[in-house]
Amino acid sequence: MKVMVVFGTRPEAVKLAPVIQELERRRVQGAAVTTRVVLTGQHRELVASMLALFQIEAHEDLKIMRPGQGLTQVTVRVLEGLEPILQRERPDWVVVQGDTTSAFAAALAAFYAHVPVAHVEAGLRTSSLWLPYPEEANRRLITRLATLHLAATPWAAANLQQEGVPPEAIRVTGNPVVDALHQIRALPLRVAPDQEKRGEADPLAVPPWADEALRWLGEPGSLGILLTSHRRENWGEPLERICRAVLHILRAEPRARVLFPCHPNPRVRGVAQAILGGEARVRLTEPLGYLPFLKAMERASLILSDSGGVQEEAPAFGRPVLVLREETERPEAVEAGVANLVGTDVDRIVTRALELLRQAGANRQTLPPASPFGDGRAAPRIVSALLGEPVEPFQPSPGPGA
Ligand code: UDP
Repeated sequence: MKVMVVFGTRPEAVKLAPVIQELERRRVQGAAVTTRVVLTGQHRELVASMLALFQIEAHEDLKIMRPGQGLTQVTVRVLEGLEPILQRERPDWVVVQGDTTSAFAAALAAFYAHVPVAHVEAGLRTSSLWLPYPEEANRRLITRLATLHLAATPWAAANLQQEGVPPEAIRVTGNPVVDALHQIRALPLRVAPDQEKRGEADPLAVPPWADEALRWLGEPGSLGILLTSHRRENWGEPLERICRAVLHILRAEPRARVLFPCHPNPRVRGVAQAILGGEARVRLTEPLGYLPFLKAMERASLILSDSGGVQEEAPAFGRPVLVLREETERPEAVEAGVANLVGTDVDRIVTRALELLRQAGANRQTLPPASPFGDGRAAPRIVSALLGEPVEPFQPSPGPGA
């Protein structure tokens, strides 16, 4: 059996890495399976460091990214780039993950080539096709094109069934992001000032600024806040409000300090720099590699984020998250008592953040680690499903708020 795994962005790389590793493990154990890894190139640098960390080699790179290109160009370039590869390789499965435009276009290319699509993290939904944009539409469209639906949780599986997906086409696997963080979080971090000694040469090495930022975030007696925000619906005024809320939090809580690894997108960086750039208790940095990012989650007392993956990871660390969105497609974290949906209203963010920080006191708050999204064994379940083997479904354990 030939499995082609196609992806292009950082969250897809994190979540598909354990699946690719498991496919390889099965091959080494004697299963008749070959894997082809195809990158679309949507987020090149962020993906390259993930591949080095998980020791995965790509077979093809469509290199689709052009400065300032829109969703139409991404879609068209992925379709055009994949067509000859699919014709040549004729895989038995194309595996895509989540809700990016790379994933949608890859699923469509596979459909055009009569290759069945397996969708990892199927069944996430909000109530509006527009929220988040374009991800909600992407995931709904992938559902219509897929043959095998790998839902992370029972809630996601129920969404699919409600839309008429036959139960026999759905497996509840857990989210492989939990497999990924189990594998990486405890690895030792090394500091390498020399750029050539990082990345492929040593995937555990970080630049001195990253090491220093992590120490600063977790300094005893302080209350560290880890902030990430880059989603399209928060560009502009919502991000300005988030940054202003950070200023209020810092004024009201002298122990608070904020690490904001900024997405390379200039729309994010420009706003963050303009509002927070001069603050002594704010560090605006480049995106962190996955290992230092997980260490930052561990050292933070509170996480503020609009990221999907971060909502799934935070419960495993027992860290509270303020979700900077009006609606989440991951209600399990809210139900588990770990995530608080606060949107981008300044007062709501400030009030809830200060409550949580004060509860945390001088120590980092640690909720009991809960795992509503996975048990670290999603990748073996996903590969079993691809190989047509029976799958014991993932059953979430009740969280602290349950
Ligand atoms: N992440 C990272 N470095 C950072 C910020 C995030 O490695 O500086 C990881 C994070 O742990 C999570 C993933 O990137 O696994 C989330 O990616 P992103 O927020 O880009 O996408 P989303 O999850 O919102 O689709």
